[in-house]
Amino acid sequence: MITPPDAIAALDESDPLAPMRALFDLPDELVYLDGNSLGVLPRGVSERVARIVNEEWRQGLISSWGGGWIDLPTSVGATIAHLIGATPDEVVVGDSTSVNLFKCIAAALHLRPERRVIVTEADNFPTDNYIAQGLAELLGDYQIRYVAPYEDPADALGDDVAVLSLTHVNYRTAAVHDMRRVTTAAHDAGALAVWDLSHSTGALPVDLNAAGADFAVGCTYKYLNGGPGAPAFCFAAQTLLGEARQPLSGWMGHMDPFAFGPDYDPAPAARRFLCGTPQILSLGALSSALELWSDVDMIAVRRKSLALSDLFMGLVDEFADEHGLEIVTPRQHERRGSHVSVRAANGHAVMRALAERGVVGDFRAPDLMRFGFTPLYTSFTDTWRAAMALRDVFDSHAWRNERFAQRLRVT
Ligand SMILES: *Cc1c(COP(=O)(O)O)cnc(C)c1O
Repeated sequence: MITPPDAIAALDESDPLAPMRALFDLPDELVYLDGNSLGVLPRGVSERVARIVNEEWRQGLISSWGGGWIDLPTSVGATIAHLIGATPDEVVVGDSTSVNLFKCIAAALHLRPERRVIVTEADNFPTDNYIAQGLAELLGDYQIRYVAPYEDPADALGDDVAVLSLTHVNYRTAAVHDMRRVTTAAHDAGALAVWDLSHSTGALPVDLNAAGADFAVGCTYKYLNGGPGAPAFCFAAQTLLGEARQPLSGWMGHMDPFAFGPDYDPAPAARRFLCGTPQILSLGALSSALELWSDVDMIAVRRKSLALSDLFMGLVDEFADEHGLEIVTPRQHERRGSHVSVRAANGHAVMRALAERGVVGDFRAPDLMRFGFTPLYTSFTDTWRAAMALRDVFDSHAWRNERFAQRLRVT
């Protein structure tokens, strides 16, 4: 790997978060800019999972449910709460983001029975809109109103709107919504706001309660490093918890699952958003991964995230015109999250050529190259190396090699 200029090395030397990189088991020579898709393995997780398997499962067997397993969805939820501006009993962990979105949108619709419209964005993450579509079809007589890219979602609100369902940081462009302003607009129109925090949690400060959010969901395998398929979180505001009903009324969301009674009676607090038996192996991995967040200062994370992405965009600017590249991520700090997307006609082949040079980002069809900046383990040197490698892939025409022509199944 090439040595960066002194000015770049100096940024790493004065970086207060630099020591956190040692908490991750990250291959040495790899520049990993895909932690916004699958976070890196934190040290300690594999030992924790081994302990669950070898001690709690093998030896403890059924007694381990009472020895802490049964409380993992709420105890892990309480750990995530402080990262998203929630109180500990407003958050539970279980199922996937898609499934939790189904529960939250359905719960919100149930609270606005006279209204028949769900507002979302046309360029929301596809699963978010597929879930809204499935729900509208299931319930019948519902409509989805799509906000066009760069239009203000507040303009799509009206007295027919039950729910506004948005992703806080856009997965393609990293454009970020002003959560408080948009939530207030939804409330003024009599609607409820459901936020997807998949690209926000662990990437920038989030304060759901200060924004007045009603419901929220989010991934834990991206910036929180919970591992592949780690269970998602689900938030419901305290003020709604008493009346909010979600339709996946499984026994783990029941007031007293082990009473084995005939009728569903929802648990108090966010536990009513659980459905079936918790995924203990994944929850164990996630709870271990979350330990390192206990004294992370999100203001410092945000400051470094912006510094890394500013550096990257500045370096890419130097060769963007020459190679027909367009940075689609907003430049203004308050308008962007923690990744940078660059439009390139042959972006898929370019990202594959880049991976061969030890720089991993990803590609989002049809033409966006995505570079995620995860301040706990991404350095300024990594960022500089990524930009230099990208430039080299273009200058050398390496991406034109035939072996990069085929689209991979998972991008
Ligand atoms: C990553 C992501 C998801 C993923 O949902 P799963 O159910 O975990 O597959 C959903 N929504 C957004 C906005 C995401 O970024």
